[in-house]
Amino acid sequence: MAAKSKTVACPHCGRRVRWGEESPWRPFCSKRCRLIDLGEWLSEERRIPTAEPDHGITPPHEQDDPEQR
Ligand SMILES: [Zn+2]
Repeated sequence: MAAKSKTVACPHCGRRVRWGEESPWRPFCSKRCRLIDLGEWLSEERRIPTAEPDHGITPPHEQDDPEQR
């Protein structure tokens, strides 16, 4: 049956990938596409916490300095 050989588009390069055991990297067409896409994900996730490092940190100058007596 044709319904069994379903294909999906690789999220990275758009190539058609057969959805089956023969495509271990589905929905990606290859391991490379999967790693590249994962890498972009990780680098973007890492960028979020470092995007605003200046907020939430109390400046040391506004606290009582014991050496300023
Ligand atoms: Zn691909």
